[in-house]
Amino acid sequence: MKFELMSLPFAEAALEPYISSETIRYHYGKHHAGYVNKLNVLIEGKEYADNPLEYMVKYTNGAVFNNAAQVYNHNFYWLGLSPTNTTCSVALSDMIKRDFGSQEEFKKQFLAKAAALFGSGWVWLVLKNDGKLVVEEFSNADNPLCHNEIPLLTCDVWEHAYYIDYRNGRADYLENWWKLINWKFVSDNLADAQNDPMTGYAQPCNENNEICDYVDKMQENEHTPS
Ligand code: MN
Repeated sequence: MKFELMSLPFAEAALEPYISSETIRYHYGKHHAGYVNKLNVLIEGKEYADNPLEYMVKYTNGAVFNNAAQVYNHNFYWLGLSPTNTTCSVALSDMIKRDFGSQEEFKKQFLAKAAALFGSGWVWLVLKNDGKLVVEEFSNADNPLCHNEIPLLTCDVWEHAYYIDYRNGRADYLENWWKLINWKFVSDNLADAQNDPMTGYAQPCNENNEICDYVDKMQENEHTPS
């Protein structure tokens, strides 16, 4: 088994009442785990199978891309949530003010795009090549890595992310998802990107986080003589 399902950075019930443990059991335990399993089956024996997840996202297509990107997107989603209060760095606050006008206006734009996205997809806060923050929506598994942009935060608006708790009430899910955002994670991603604009969080590897931990582990394994 090449790729492993990341560990959740919080307990299954930690996001209640906004995201129930039942949702976590399905969303993380079935959907996310399913993408990991399918990806492993699809790449087994392939010459590119030893590359990191980011490589699969950027340089494959079809079913391999769909499953790899969904693993990447879900990793990013869970890491962007926190059951405890977190705060924005000064740098992130300043850039949000500069590029959106205010935190409130940023929230309005983000949630409006998330509510309007037709069908399944993801909404992201990204750092563009010109240094500006923008909110972008992508359908299905598509994500900022595929467009050479640096992802800072994502919200999953596939129905499986909210249907158990909110049925068709995507707007209510979005309002409550907003309360769970891990602003430290977003701030750290921005800091990493600014320290190293060629790579940023999107490439391996920065601070101690789940994605980097497993990329590190994979790289160690690759360098261990068998
Ligand atoms: Mn999902």
